[in-house]
Amino acid sequence: MRDYRLLMQRWHHLVREITPLDLSVYGEAGGYPLMVVHSARRDPLLPSFYLSAGIHGDEPAPVEGLLQWAAETFRADPSIAHWNWMIFPCLNPWGLERNVRLDAQGLDLNRYYNSRKVPQIMDQLALLRGHRYDVAVSLHEDYDARGFYLYEIAAKRPHWGEYLCSECASVPPDDRRKIDGHSSRNGLIRRKITTGMMKGHPEAFRLHFRHADRTFTLETPSEESLRKRVALHREFLTKVVKKMKSDGGVAGKNS
Ligand SMILES: [Zn+2]
Repeated sequence: MRDYRLLMQRWHHLVREITPLDLSVYGEAGGYPLMVVHSARRDPLLPSFYLSAGIHGDEPAPVEGLLQWAAETFRADPSIAHWNWMIFPCLNPWGLERNVRLDAQGLDLNRYYNSRKVPQIMDQLALLRGHRYDVAVSLHEDYDARGFYLYEIAAKRPHWGEYLCSECASVPPDDRRKIDGHSSRNGLIRRKITTGMMKGHPEAFRLHFRHADRTFTLETPSEESLRKRVALHREFLTKVVKKMKSDGGVAGKNS
């Protein structure tokens, strides 16, 4: 679970099998190559997704869940592999192998998406230049969570948050009314954000401001069993794809 070379091998293996996808190394951090799994060709008529995991090294379930979901989804329905994908399987390999939140420089990478200080983030943002995504998802975990919860930064209506939360069952939703100072209902926190509200921007802010129509951050509770947390991340991504299919995302784009 914490072996990054093995994680890369597993993604390589999957991408060899799923021909519309490619795996590239786009940078280096803490002595580790950074990988991105992306569509070999882009088709503007098909849905586009940005997915990432592992920006905090002590959050292993999203990293595993994302790979398991991809293997399951792309094998079960090869047409989905032709959609436009930008997948970052693990943004902080140094932290993953050491089970620490921060990177090798002691930085919380998820606070530098409006800065030019961190080379690996500059390299990642260069890949996103000119890209627009229907949906962007950042997968996380939280030691204080009492269940899963979801941040929705929604520019586009109708909102998907209630549906996505109600369809996830591997872990119950966090039932607190306030989470991290934000009002929450059944695990859903819907936020309006402005550029000035945080000094160091998280990945989700950048995605919302520049690249995505819908931006989600999913958090699973670190105290829950790893098996259930992995299952919740898989389940969530499966529901997002299902929603994209059913809500006119696919048909609508073709019409
Ligand atoms: Zn996190």
